[in-house]
Amino acid sequence: MNDLYEPVIGLEVHVQLGTNTKIFCGCPTSFGAPPNDNVCPVCLGLPGALPVLNREAVELAIQASLAMHCRINSFSRFARKNYFYPDLPKGYQISQYDQPLAEHGWLEINSDDNRKRIGITRVHMEDDAGKSIHDGFKDSSRYTYVDLNRSGTPLIEIVSEPELRSSDDAHAYLTELKLVMQFTGSSDCDMEKGNLRCDANVSVRRKGVEKLGTKVEVKNLNSFRFAKMAIDYEVARQVELIESGGTVSQESRLYNVETGETASMRSKEQAHDYRYFPEPDLVPLRVGEAWLARIKDALPELPADKRQRFADQYGLREYDANVLTATRAIGDYFERAAKASGDPKAAANWVMGDLAGSLKGREITESPVTAEDLGELLSIVASGEISGKIAKDIFATMFETGQSPRAIIEREGLKQISDTGALGKIIDEVIASNPKQVEQYKSGKTTVIGFLVGQVMKASKGQANPGLVNELLREKLI
Ligand code: ADP
Ligand code: ZN
Ligand code: MG
Repeated sequence: MNDLYEPVIGLEVHVQLGTNTKIFCGCPTSFGAPPNDNVCPVCLGLPGALPVLNREAVELAIQASLAMHCRINSFSRFARKNYFYPDLPKGYQISQYDQPLAEHGWLEINSDDNRKRIGITRVHMEDDAGKSIHDGFKDSSRYTYVDLNRSGTPLIEIVSEPELRSSDDAHAYLTELKLVMQFTGSSDCDMEKGNLRCDANVSVRRKGVEKLGTKVEVKNLNSFRFAKMAIDYEVARQVELIESGGTVSQESRLYNVETGETASMRSKEQAHDYRYFPEPDLVPLRVGEAWLARIKDALPELPADKRQRFADQYGLREYDANVLTATRAIGDYFERAAKASGDPKAAANWVMGDLAGSLKGREITESPVTAEDLGELLSIVASGEISGKIAKDIFATMFETGQSPRAIIEREGLKQISDTGALGKIIDEVIASNPKQVEQYKSGKTTVIGFLVGQVMKASKGQANPGLVNELLREKLI
């Protein structure tokens, strides 16, 4: 990128709230139902049908807003945003406009190895539109189908301040936002189902200049990777345009994933184009203090706080703390394993190492090895009863069978040999069959002891206590 310019990015993110039913009617929000099955007069926009606000949707929206450190407005209002689209049967979207649910929040992200707060301007609630399915050419005609199952699904729109300064910032912001939604349970943010969609507002300005440049809105980015690529493309396009004497015009563009380019969609609409007015079919939304306090009290620990606590309490490195807080379930699993093992660092290593390796991308909640069993295995290693190497084998069996470490150790007789008599016998045999190495050791090449220890471990099928072997060998070799 041209070093004279600085990108300025603000994101508008739509998140589908995880309710069972739609925002203004009782239709299910389940994904994958046959087209136009999950519909009723309200979400079909039939004349005379009246919306009723879903309390659960409001709670999830408040949860999400609190988790992004927003101020919740005790009084907010729904508004009609009027526009035509075939998959919008009402002819308007019910959104919020000048009196949104929540404002003035922030999310903290990692930007160039520094922590940085990105301001959140507002969070408002709205209903989703249906889906137009473009089926391409068939019988030399073009078909588009309308599926209204999604119509009336509850969304929040989260609008950031224009404080992101690179596509990496944008990526970090989206990642943190998604994590916060998942931790609070406000949304699963399943990208494949379109539960998180983002519009990126992008402008550039000469470094040192305070005034913001003209922004372009790149709409409907449904993956973080595409969002990053679209921003990179758009920044480069704008810089090139300005450098060649042109000016950026304010417009909406679409990112084409095939070509990796953005193309103009329409000139940017203005708020007045939508003829916003207060929604006459809904009373204003009041959020009383008692309700708010109840939701606040029930909020779980947030990802940023959990990361910090893991680092402080368990002495984990930043990287490890990040990995172990990637989901709430991983954090819970790790903490239970750490508690049962008495050795948090070992638990961290095993969860990120052997367990993650065995899961091969499956969720930790599907692990056949419980956190308590893993912890017990580690405490058995710490007690010296089995070696770390044997523990790996036992773990593999635990993962395969779901059995407890104790049961496997007893059954397979895997206890570490710490009995000096039994070990002494094996050591004598190793000494007798390796005269050359013994000679070398005695003539001062003491590093050869490693080889002899290895031979003893092999002869004992890995069950000898390596510390004790070392000790006994040295005694016998004097
Ligand atoms: P509009 O009225 O055009 O929708 P808003 O002021 O509501 O614009 O901002 C929409 C989004 O665009 C916000 O996320 C905001 O941070 C971002 N934004 C505003 N101005 C700029 C700019 N000059 N460059 C990049 N992003 C911007
Ligand atoms: Zn309905
Ligand atoms: Mg706007």
